[in-house]
Amino acid sequence: MTPEDKRFFEFVNAALPKGRYAAALNDTDYVFVRRTVPKTGFFKGKSVIQYQMAERWGTCYVFEGDTGRLERYFTSPVSVDILKLIVMDYKRAALAYARELEQCARCGIHLTDEISRANMVGPECIKHWPWMPDLAAREREKAESR
Ligand SMILES: [Zn+2]
Repeated sequence: MTPEDKRFFEFVNAALPKGRYAAALNDTDYVFVRRTVPKTGFFKGKSVIQYQMAERWGTCYVFEGDTGRLERYFTSPVSVDILKLIVMDYKRAALAYARELEQCARCGIHLTDEISRANMVGPECIKHWPWMPDLAAREREKAESR
């Protein structure tokens, strides 16, 4: 691991909230990514970056903030460049996740009722991500004026 890698993953830890994000690979394809810090199990307390394959999550990076230890899983499709795109504009990446998969990008519940679908965030998570409804409304207006 280079010092740049370590700095970047420290930045990810500081700047990217735990949650789910979509990054556009091109006009139609997205890669779905999440950052978690598991409370139990093998990765307990570490910052874990995973990508979504159907209902499963594959691990891409495991970063231990205290020691600076970074593990990379080379089969993952999530490059550092993709991760940079997500981190730089994580709110929009979270909105893209919610829009594409109709799930709350903070906790993953399905956005079933009309209010949650308009807000693009679940009823509990709106307390933590109060910016989401405004962002969703602005992006919707932009899309409609195209
Ligand atoms: Zn939620």
